[in-house]
Amino acid sequence: MSAKKILILPGDGIGPEVMGEVRRVLDWFQSKRGLRLEISEDVVGGCAFDRHGTPLDSATLQRAREADAVLLGAVGGPKWAKVAYDKRPEAGLLALRKELGLFANLRPALVFDALIDASTLKPEVVRGLDIMIVRELTGGVYFGEPRGITDIGNGKRRGVNTQVYTTSEIIRIARVAFDLARQRRNKVCSCEKANVMESGLLWREEVTKLHATEYADVELTHMYADNCAMQLLKAPSQFDVILTDNLFGDILSDEAAMLTGSLGMLPSASMGEDPAQSRLRPSSAERVSGAQSSRAARKAMYEPIHGSAPDIAGQDKANPLASILSAAMMLRYSFGWAAEAAMLEQAVRAVLDAGIRTADIAAIGVPPVGTRAMGAAVVERLDKLVL
Ligand code: NAD
Repeated sequence: MSAKKILILPGDGIGPEVMGEVRRVLDWFQSKRGLRLEISEDVVGGCAFDRHGTPLDSATLQRAREADAVLLGAVGGPKWAKVAYDKRPEAGLLALRKELGLFANLRPALVFDALIDASTLKPEVVRGLDIMIVRELTGGVYFGEPRGITDIGNGKRRGVNTQVYTTSEIIRIARVAFDLARQRRNKVCSCEKANVMESGLLWREEVTKLHATEYADVELTHMYADNCAMQLLKAPSQFDVILTDNLFGDILSDEAAMLTGSLGMLPSASMGEDPAQSRLRPSSAERVSGAQSSRAARKAMYEPIHGSAPDIAGQDKANPLASILSAAMMLRYSFGWAAEAAMLEQAVRAVLDAGIRTADIAAIGVPPVGTRAMGAAVVERLDKLVL
């Protein structure tokens, strides 16, 4: 089996610090578990602008295309606030997602028992919460045409955006949700506004059709997106996989994230087309041997959902767990190394159970640890898991 090529793009602010800890964890897996990884690093965002005059250099994009997976830290910061819009650090990230064709955004919202008090909701409401939001990322109202602001005379203007989805866009994202559900608790809740939007009606009809023909074994429900927003606060444990479009997904995933209480804990994955239709589920052969089939061909990028946190950058204060958990998603979804992914998640849980906390999740009166100490603690737990 050839080594998996990973491109790490630490980015700006706390990005390099948290990615340093991801690197430490991946080094551990290479030396202690024999995983064959070929890791390289490059720049994206503000630091790429400083070096190349663009937030995403063409050579970097090419390396991302050639990688089996990309791990990204975060981009942006006040230093680049006055840079032209298309050269801003965030433009580099958007270009990367677009160029890699990453149409599916996976955002788990997981409440760790040890952090239950970090949620603003009552512990009995969020205990054991484990939701996966699957958001369509490259279509819908953020990209639909016509769009723009036009002058309509008399000093008045008109702003237009268009919500548009095609059958194939709906089906490919629905497949991702159904496949994921089969690896989890086998439930998909599809959210739109079929009551008031034709694009929502099409969404519901296509998801229903796909379910009947290929995924009848998965439990499917439909919910209006506004009701989903309410249900996430009222009874979030009813959800397993939530499937939704770009706009509603943007809002619902942020809401779900906050149920868990801390930005520093939340990973994400963005996936592209699966050329061989091998979907997200590792075959049993892959699970046993870590063997690679078409999985390497599926473009994927993994990143924490937080930003570059300029307020704490360079101070060894950032929580690296969101990035470390993003790396666990990479091991599972890009490489089919489910056992190693579970190990890493278990090590994170053990660290939290031991009361080790960075400042963002620290309990009152308990001294927090720094970024590096947190990374070291995860590796220490990994060591104990293999003993
Ligand atoms: P942010 O997520 O960077 O920070 C929000 C707050 O959360 C800050 O107080 C920060 O200190 C804290 N925080 C964030 N991550 C943390 C971590 N791992 N550990 C501990 N505390 C953490 O959001 P912001 O302040 O709105 O944005 C700052 C910059 O990041 C902006 O330039 C923005 O455009 C950019 N941004 C980038 C991404 C990305 O790269 N994907 C996402 C969001 C924001």
